[in-house]
Amino acid sequence: MTYQGVLSKYGGLLDLPPHTSASAVSLLEGNTPLIRADNLARRLGGGFELFIKYEGLNPTGSFKDRGMTAAVSEALGRSALSVICASTGNTAASAAAYAARAGMKSVVLIPQGKVAAGKLAGAAAYGAKVIQIEGSFDDALTMVIEISNKHPICLVNSINPYRIEGQKTAAFEICDVLESAPDWLCLPVGNAGNITAYWAGFKQYDKLKSTGLPQILGVQAAGAAPLVLGHTVENPETVATAIRIGRPARAEQALQAAQESNGRIIAVTDQEILNMQKMLAELEGIWVEPASAAGLAGLALEIAAMAFNPRGKRIVAVCTGHGLKDPEAITDRMSAPWVVPPKLAALEEIILG
Ligand SMILES: *Cc1c(COP(=O)(O)O)cnc(C)c1O
Repeated sequence: MTYQGVLSKYGGLLDLPPHTSASAVSLLEGNTPLIRADNLARRLGGGFELFIKYEGLNPTGSFKDRGMTAAVSEALGRSALSVICASTGNTAASAAAYAARAGMKSVVLIPQGKVAAGKLAGAAAYGAKVIQIEGSFDDALTMVIEISNKHPICLVNSINPYRIEGQKTAAFEICDVLESAPDWLCLPVGNAGNITAYWAGFKQYDKLKSTGLPQILGVQAAGAAPLVLGHTVENPETVATAIRIGRPARAEQALQAAQESNGRIIAVTDQEILNMQKMLAELEGIWVEPASAAGLAGLALEIAAMAFNPRGKRIVAVCTGHGLKDPEAITDRMSAPWVVPPKLAALEEIILG
């Protein structure tokens, strides 16, 4: 049978209301590649297997599509007319795309001046009403919760339980491909929906198929690390805009996932994130947005600090969003291209030195 998206493939394992499946709104999300990254593994010391779960290859360029197909299908199933979300960008683009496909209206609230170009463009292209809040993501989330409590507009942030259900499918896919859970799973943590979903998915699959459980390494950006600091962060700041969140909605569940899995949540600096973004692109040909490199940057830090021994382990790093979402993260820092006259001699001089 041809692939028809995560609800079609795994819907039976997801806790969704009966009205959901009849109305599935799908862009054939999921089924993303798990790519072996031997060059990067060697650079990090070697002796272990490393795989990249390349979630940037989802239809709107991030893993948010897995949860959005569930949340929007559920909303459509009960005849909701519009969806709303607060977003650092990727949720906005995903909500807007799925709402468009469902014939629903979408409203997205973004924090002022903090959204990467490729994400804002996506939301606009899919026809969302884009509203910029003079405040942080956390302020925007508070506002969408209030307005969806007051009006019949469906909230599709990851506090919507169906988002988490849909996002569990990434854990199922990893286990299906590897035929077991990995030893470690590392991923970036912002609002903490994804770490919650992965842990729930791995636990469910282990009960069902004895796939085992990974240890989870959740990674925050140092300027937006409430789960590491143990308190909320009023003005979160990081180049990794997708995880620029100071008050994670699922903080408790993230800490629980780290604790139950015998893993941990750590922070990495922006420089470590950007270095890893370049390393992954240059060594493996995989370009991800900065937030998506945080999980791997955390892994590199743990290995370098000898906080854990990777030898013989199988490690999966979740790369949550595509590099094209945030081209400025590269173009702002790159040196300008060479400029030469259209003369062969000039070209030879540059190429051959
Ligand atoms: C949303 C997002 C995250 C953070 O996921 P949470 O569920 O909020 O923890 C990380 N990376 C990218 C690219 C994202 O879009």
